[in-house]
Amino acid sequence: MSPAGSISAVSARVSAARSADAKVASPFEGPVQTLVDELGRLPGIGPKSAQRIAFFLLKSAPDDAKRLARAIVEAKERVSWCRRCFNFAEGELCVYCRDDRRDSALLCVVEEPRDIVAVERTQEYRGRYHVLLGAISPIEGIGPDQLKIKELLARVNDEGVQEVILATNPNIEGEATAMYLARLLKPLGLRVTRIASGLPVGGDLEYADEVTLGRALEGRREVDA
Ligand code: ZN
Repeated sequence: MSPAGSISAVSARVSAARSADAKVASPFEGPVQTLVDELGRLPGIGPKSAQRIAFFLLKSAPDDAKRLARAIVEAKERVSWCRRCFNFAEGELCVYCRDDRRDSALLCVVEEPRDIVAVERTQEYRGRYHVLLGAISPIEGIGPDQLKIKELLARVNDEGVQEVILATNPNIEGEATAMYLARLLKPLGLRVTRIASGLPVGGDLEYADEVTLGRALEGRREVDA
């Protein structure tokens, strides 16, 4: 047998063993298996967690399980995207777009609605938001046209925005998106800023990786004294 032949024989045996594993991993039938499968499709939930949650639900009181089911159905029926900023909204506008006390001159651009929650937790920001619903990622085939960038430019024109804070994630996709937006926004004559990235509070310099420490040096600022 040629070496290539033996490799394909091995890989055939491996895939046969894998499909046998897959069969062993799905020993349930009917509604139980459906529940395990559906839970397993949730982000961050592997097959074991899916089984554990399914068993928990099956053992729980009927009212508890129904409350969860109702919450999912109700959220899907009543919540959609904010017409202005693409945060989650019940109705036309989200809670931040409806709030007149927020500063319309400041616009914080984030990738996902969950990032708004993170910024709000700081209690440092009183401006408005714009959610891109993703980041530029050539690997995943996501280009600028799939994001809410056109809508961002329209808002900058219409709403008297003076500063755009680019708060996309400090990873490759987030940085690429921030660079792309900066190139579009700067010629419009407004202030374009990027959130600083640096060291975690309570951390030690000696444990910081060189990229993070480099960023922290780059984003240094005057000490208030
Ligand atoms: Zn909104």
